[in-house]
Amino acid sequence: MTGAAPYPPPPERKLRVATTSLGGCFGCHMSLLDIDERLFTLIEHVQFDRSPLTDLKTVGPCDLGLIEGGLCNAENIEVLQAFRAQCKVLVAVGACAINGGLPAQRNRLDIGDVLREVYVHRPGTRADAQVPSDPELPLPLNQVRPIHEVVLIDYELPGCPPSADTFWAFFTDLLAGRTPRLAHGQIHYD
Ligand code: SF4
Repeated sequence: MTGAAPYPPPPERKLRVATTSLGGCFGCHMSLLDIDERLFTLIEHVQFDRSPLTDLKTVGPCDLGLIEGGLCNAENIEVLQAFRAQCKVLVAVGACAINGGLPAQRNRLDIGDVLREVYVHRPGTRADAQVPSDPELPLPLNQVRPIHEVVLIDYELPGCPPSADTFWAFFTDLLAGRTPRLAHGQIHYD
């Protein structure tokens, strides 16, 4: 990792930050944790609301929300809209949130065929196997969609996942009062 960038002194009020995952793999959250010891600097400036770091299940009013994952089912849409309503600034984190990412590879297939292949026709399933239909289960969407199709997004952090240095550059700019700008190496992968 690189050394910590110059940082402003801790503010009187910490920035309240929430994070959540929709249709994603939590790899973007893992990359955020990869800022390693810079987390100690970050928490001088940031208080986490809903996040795997706090295990809070609902989101309260926040300054900043980070969302990984695309929209795969109806519950994802509800979570996204509740998150948007509580966050002054919303950031789409990673390819899945920005364009659907890997889960969107199913978009060229019929969702009914996909479910039957997985739950009914797959080798090893029972003869009476059925596609799960418990009303408690979130209804899958016909296609995986990016989150900007449902809510307004303020920033995007590209990558699968964005690197730890990309997260750090974003937070460093934001907490210094600058408009976050990512360097070429943080948005290109060639
Ligand atoms: Fe996982 Fe990549 Fe999607 Fe992030 S962008 S949630 S790392 S698949």
